[in-house]
Amino acid sequence: MSLSLIAKSIKPSPTLKLNEKFAILKEKGDPVIHLGGGEPKSKAPMDAMLAAIAHVNTGEVRYAPADGIPALKQAIIRYTEEFYERKVKPENVIASSGAKQAIMVALQAILNPQEEVIFPAPYWVSYPDMARLIGAIPVPALPEDGTFYPSIKDITDRVGSYTKAVIINSPNNPTGAMYSEEFIAEVVEFCEKKDLWLIMDDIYHRLIFDGRKPINCFKYAKKVDENSKIILINGVSKQYAMTGYRIGWAVGNKKVIEAMANIQGHQTSGPSVILQKAAVGALNGIQSGVESLRATLENNRNVMISLLNSFEGVRVTKPDGTFYCFADFSAYEKDSNKLSEFLIDKVQVLTVPGKEFGLDGYLRLSYCGSIKDIQEGIERMKWALDPNSPNELYIGDRKLVRDWA
Ligand code: PMP
Repeated sequence: MSLSLIAKSIKPSPTLKLNEKFAILKEKGDPVIHLGGGEPKSKAPMDAMLAAIAHVNTGEVRYAPADGIPALKQAIIRYTEEFYERKVKPENVIASSGAKQAIMVALQAILNPQEEVIFPAPYWVSYPDMARLIGAIPVPALPEDGTFYPSIKDITDRVGSYTKAVIINSPNNPTGAMYSEEFIAEVVEFCEKKDLWLIMDDIYHRLIFDGRKPINCFKYAKKVDENSKIILINGVSKQYAMTGYRIGWAVGNKKVIEAMANIQGHQTSGPSVILQKAAVGALNGIQSGVESLRATLENNRNVMISLLNSFEGVRVTKPDGTFYCFADFSAYEKDSNKLSEFLIDKVQVLTVPGKEFGLDGYLRLSYCGSIKDIQEGIERMKWALDPNSPNELYIGDRKLVRDWA
């Protein structure tokens, strides 16, 4: 079969693949624990659910504008004003099917084949494949100092004549690192000086810990309004626990948003109006769910970090936000794919191999589930990896016997 070169260059999304694996094992009745998840377990805000239901009940669910319904654009405008102190117009906003599609159409609107997009590593799994989907070249920038906090030099060292854009995701998936205000300021200034597009993926914007305050990239921008080449990405998936609603958005200059809307119009005709109504409900409704989710995640992070710190051989950097931590297991196994497979096969704990995020030897562990799952998951991992563990482990009434060294 002759598939396209692009099709052949794209790998399946590893996180979606793992979710499928989890669902199959669960269906079989296996006591599997998901530490690979990418979504909060809390319910969607009531205002979101009611808004969606009310629209379904009208019996008239129709096509809507490809770049988003006016009410959602207004809600995004208000959000941008509140958290970024920037007054934008409806022409500066596009609603998409998830932050994922917003990023994808942004890349399609700004990159030509062979042009390069730089992003710090470890990176969100989809960035490299999104670039490849349009024939562009992903350029990961692993911090030289061995931390999860890139310096401006890590970025500038990789800029060449083909560089067209930079993507910054902070707080970061998979490390949970929130980059410093100074770094964000430097990136904004550098991109403006070099006339590069800057995609700020702020999907975890307010899910931050230890009293940190969200960073506003626009504070450091000298080019404003239609001269700005910052494309700000956000959505309801994470902060409002609405991953399945698939609503994200982008804020940018009028020309780029128009180009993105044209592209999206031919792809999907825009996100479903039912789900857009739900997002309006979430953004305009009672906001206490965001803070309670944030506080729960901070507590979960503390539990996971203290368990990992007592795990000899594992090195971990305390996450500043999100619901992930990225721990170094290379003392046990350098090949993270092998290690992840070993853990699911032997003790039924699902983790995501660090290799998928651009750093082998690490595993991404999520703390968006229950405390019980975090405790039991880490406990099982410890049992599987520590050669001094007892020979047997009970999972419910199932007895596991160690048949490996
Ligand atoms: N950016 C990052 C860094 C993410 O982690 C995710 C989701 N895992 C997305 C974008 C996409 O979000 P959405 O579900 O709204 O498409």
